[in-house]
Amino acid sequence: MLTNILQVAVPLPLRKLFDYLSLEHAQVLPGQRVLVSFGRKILVGIVVNIRDNTLVAKSKLKSISKILDPQPIFSKKNLELLLWASNYYHSPIGEVLHSALPKRLRGDKEWQNIMEPETINTTELTNPADIPILNSAQQEAITAINNAHNKFTTFLLAGITGSGKTEVYLQIAAYVISKQQQVIIIVPEISLTPQLIQRVQARFNLKIAILHSKLTEKTRYENWQLACSGAAKIIVGTRSAALIPFANPGIFIIDEEHDTSFKQQTGLRYSARDLLVRRGHLEQCPVVLGSATPALETIHNVNNNKYIQLTLPTRAGIAQPPKITIVDSRQPKLPGGLSNKLLNKIKQHLAEKNQVLLFLNRRGYAPVLMCFQCGSTVDCKQCDVKLTVHQSHNKLQCHHCGSSCAIPKQCAQCNTVASVLQPIGIGTEKVAEVLAEYFPDANIDRIDKDTTTKKDALKIAVAKVKDGTTNILLGTQMIAKGHDFPNVTLAAIVDIDGSWFSNDFRSIEKMAQLIIQVAGRAGRAQKLGEVILQTKQPHNPLLKLLLSSGYMQFAKILLQERQQLHLPPFSYHASINAKSKKKTQALQLLSDLKRACVAEVQQQNTLILGPVAAVIEKRADYYYAQLLLQANNRSSLHSSVRQLLLFLESAQTPAAVKWTLDIDPVI
Ligand SMILES: [Zn+2]
Ligand SMILES: [Zn+2]
Repeated sequence: MLTNILQVAVPLPLRKLFDYLSLEHAQVLPGQRVLVSFGRKILVGIVVNIRDNTLVAKSKLKSISKILDPQPIFSKKNLELLLWASNYYHSPIGEVLHSALPKRLRGDKEWQNIMEPETINTTELTNPADIPILNSAQQEAITAINNAHNKFTTFLLAGITGSGKTEVYLQIAAYVISKQQQVIIIVPEISLTPQLIQRVQARFNLKIAILHSKLTEKTRYENWQLACSGAAKIIVGTRSAALIPFANPGIFIIDEEHDTSFKQQTGLRYSARDLLVRRGHLEQCPVVLGSATPALETIHNVNNNKYIQLTLPTRAGIAQPPKITIVDSRQPKLPGGLSNKLLNKIKQHLAEKNQVLLFLNRRGYAPVLMCFQCGSTVDCKQCDVKLTVHQSHNKLQCHHCGSSCAIPKQCAQCNTVASVLQPIGIGTEKVAEVLAEYFPDANIDRIDKDTTTKKDALKIAVAKVKDGTTNILLGTQMIAKGHDFPNVTLAAIVDIDGSWFSNDFRSIEKMAQLIIQVAGRAGRAQKLGEVILQTKQPHNPLLKLLLSSGYMQFAKILLQERQQLHLPPFSYHASINAKSKKKTQALQLLSDLKRACVAEVQQQNTLILGPVAAVIEKRADYYYAQLLLQANNRSSLHSSVRQLLLFLESAQTPAAVKWTLDIDPVI
């Protein structure tokens, strides 16, 4: 009998492990990296299991070529988590394990855990100078979470904006660190939430490992080492940090848990939030989901007693909630989309020496360039979208594929004189132009993807708001989150209407979250804040409900709607997305797939919806189509997905069509 068969995962899109013999006299453990010969290649594999038998004929069984590291890189629990992810997201195990490694360790470089986790002296852990007095809700939340130490409990920390969630994070972090464990804080995007990091750094006399995609490869590797060796007691990172094999996690905190950026949209399409809840279960430690505007899925889990809700109902300190006004924007020819009422309010707040924040989620000058002679628009050649006018760069740009061209002087369709080509609609650039006309003495700054391409541009812009240089800050979603600007007293959303007509069933939920987040930017200190929402639907009942009863009450009604419509979280979705260069191929594959699988899938009580062409069918020269599965429970969904995969991974799929699978898709 053979005694040491290693089951190895290799970084290829294959849904299985491969058996190898271990080296003689060598002790190999699960989670260790090894080199194996695979076909003609030498690959970095990860040992997943060790068995004493194999179905591979002895003559065909190869030995591993080398043991790369002296110890396992993945602990048993880390391995278990990634196996779960591979299974749940139907993603090949070798690729999942490799995606949890820094680039350097995907190659054959040796890794050694050389860092010693330091023992924390709890008396010098925090800088007491800046610890504020807690209100009773904060105190209760901290006690409840600390009482769950070393137990798996998921908490929803539902705190209105400005209610002092960060202070709760800092104090529960201190408790976990005093128990010599690691604290993992996950945020949507580091550059948008610099204040959280600053506060963590100011509070703790400790090494903090920061992990996000903008770091250099070297720094990222060093910080990864700190996190994975246990040398760093606090890790602040974005989505991908959820996969790091931490040495000794004691709590997972997910800030702004509703944020859709926690869902990865390529490769392993995981939700960092859902993965960390699973991880808390494996590690037997608490998970804290913080938000002023929790996702409906999370609220649903509270309603089903899976999560425990802790509420911070009041703004911390002396700040008062802002007054919100709806302004009817159904008026012809508003300059830059700004109503008189809003312009007057801006004037008033500037006169009182306060700052104003304007939000519009559309960059560029105008979303459309139209010929007034023949009515045609200038479209992207590679996508089914209109090109956006970027006046300051004299360019038309596609916001989907990035292609651009100079603004044409003449209409290509009717060839009449240049003056009939006119920008239609408004973008941030246009609003900035109009603001400059109305408020010539004000310092107006614009923050969007176009103005922040240079390193530190966002940082500088934020600093200029803080030191009072900027009077009016205008921007896209980059300004909606996390920032604490004490002198902003007026926040306005120029146009909230896009969401009512979206084909995404989550769009109204997202719109409400955005409104509350933007409102949260106004009046965060001593001064009373004011919020203006411009809409062409001033009497929309959902909008009225949100403003009169607050987000949680609004969410309750939205959840009832979802239940009636049988949409998530009351059902479960998986989507198959296909793309092809030829228009019909992607749709054809999905039609064939449906025809082949519909009987089995229906037996699983799973609905198979579509296929349909994507809303923007053509993007960057590919045509996109989608098939959606909807099931009442997860096991039906997963059985159905397996059926579809059998078909897709058989030889019947033409090579010209590329497809991906997404479990719990979020647009
Ligand atoms: Zn024309
Ligand atoms: Zn394009």
